[in-house]
Amino acid sequence: MAEKPFRLLPRVTDRNRHFWQGGKEGRLQFLRCRACATWVHPPQPVCPECLGKDLVPEPVSGRAQVLTFTLNHQPWVPAPDHPYCIAIVEIEEQEGLRLMTNVVHCAPEEVAIGMPVRVVFEEQEDVWFPLFEPDEDRA
Ligand SMILES: [Zn+2]
Repeated sequence: MAEKPFRLLPRVTDRNRHFWQGGKEGRLQFLRCRACATWVHPPQPVCPECLGKDLVPEPVSGRAQVLTFTLNHQPWVPAPDHPYCIAIVEIEEQEGLRLMTNVVHCAPEEVAIGMPVRVVFEEQEDVWFPLFEPDEDRA
């Protein structure tokens, strides 16, 4: 089992707890507008589509695809797994619902734009970081 890489821990608040701690139950969750069903991320009090204020956390499937990525070869901090892949993924449920994350469980040179990925969680203290791995079922 490799050591966990260094990550800056976000501050968990009432507004973002569903996102950072959803992984405890294996769920990737975003706010969703109850009026127009738009997913909203990062968390904000008002729906950007309809200006509705009734936003509640809901889980998504965890399926996504790689939109763009970069390989970080620079060991800024001591970590066992360089180079690693920093990616922006788009969540399957909605065009434009995107996360900056890491692609894990595959060689960095295997990461490609459009690659299907699925969420996995890495627990550190009170945070479950959503990371993404290749989705073999959709490869
Ligand atoms: Zn809305």
